[in-house]
Amino acid sequence: MKFLVFVEQRDGKIRKASLEALSLARKLSGGPVAAVLPGKGVTALAKDLARYGAGTVYVADRDELALYSTKGYVGALAAAAEKEKPDAVLLAATAMGKDVAPRFAARRGVSALADVMELRVEAGRLVGSRPVYSGKARAEVDCGDSALQIATTRPNVFPAEAQEGPEPKIETLELGPIQPRAKVLRVETPESRELDVAEADVIVSGGRGIKGPENWPVIRDLQEALGAALGASRAVVDAGWIDHQHQVGQTGKVVSPTLYVACGISGAIQHLAGMGTSKVIVAINKDPDAPIFKVATYGVVGDLFQIVPEFAKAVRAAKAE
Ligand SMILES: Cc1cc2nc3c(=O)[nH]c(=O)nc-3n(C[C@H](O)[C@H](O)[C@H](O)COP(=O)(O)OP(=O)(O)OC[C@H]3O[C@@H](n4cnc5c(N)ncnc54)[C@H](O)[C@@H]3O)c2cc1C
Repeated sequence: MKFLVFVEQRDGKIRKASLEALSLARKLSGGPVAAVLPGKGVTALAKDLARYGAGTVYVADRDELALYSTKGYVGALAAAAEKEKPDAVLLAATAMGKDVAPRFAARRGVSALADVMELRVEAGRLVGSRPVYSGKARAEVDCGDSALQIATTRPNVFPAEAQEGPEPKIETLELGPIQPRAKVLRVETPESRELDVAEADVIVSGGRGIKGPENWPVIRDLQEALGAALGASRAVVDAGWIDHQHQVGQTGKVVSPTLYVACGISGAIQHLAGMGTSKVIVAINKDPDAPIFKVATYGVVGDLFQIVPEFAKAVRAAKAE
């Protein structure tokens, strides 16, 4: 099966989720695959994609692609697909991938598998499984007999595996005039460049159990000790205790870290929808009947104000050994 992978970059850095999709495509195809890389000043980044499985990189390096636009980026993918004529296209299920994939699929009149957590090739078809009912069940999905199969892969689920290999063939895409119907005028980044929960391997999250924003230092202490990103429930975001970028859940970010530590979070279904697929879940809650314990790998029943500082101390001591 011939694969084309849509690769995303931000601020001149390839996103890990795209490297995961690329590695997966290499694994499924059993050899190098093609990638498409849109943006401005991105040609220099193309080389490194070879280590993750790209044999050919189609580069769309244009001023008009400096900021994301659906039409511009879908246009780049379509142009690469026109040249490569792939059987399958993979994208990471990031905010951008979730925007590009359905638009591209609609252009081609085919369906797309969204947010898969497993993917295999069976008789020339992509077959995947994806979470449904807010993560309570998995559905097995495929694209039928579609001539072009498309899937988005959930970040942090598939490994990004680097291997040494030859340099990729780099092809510059000739795109016509790019006139997006909706234009991103600017991107505002928060002043403190915090680790993004969507990309983090370890997340420490706080919920209403922390009682008030003045108590974030208790959670931050553990977060720093673990080198983690800071997550939050919607309740504390709605209360204005922390910015929405930290929110995990159905209306926040979907995460799948190796370790998720939930402090004072009840485990409402909408929160579980965002973190239920984390590999190891540690829950700290004073209510033994809190629903978070149903998904937790390790549950600690008790007061977070006593447990979290001890946890942070123990992590620091273990790291110092
Ligand atoms: C359409 C919709 C979308 C939603 N999207 C999201 C979403 O994306 N993300 C999300 O998180 N929620 C979402 N919600 C809200 C969700 O239903 C819950 O209201 C929310 O997750 C609760 O947040 P919480 O666990 O912090 O607060 P609570 O439910 O109030 O839980 C606080 C927990 O802290 C514990 N606690 C209190 N004090 C301590 C202490 N000292 N030590 C230890 N534990 C303590 C309590 O036992 C309790 O379990 C959504 C809701 C709707 C309707």
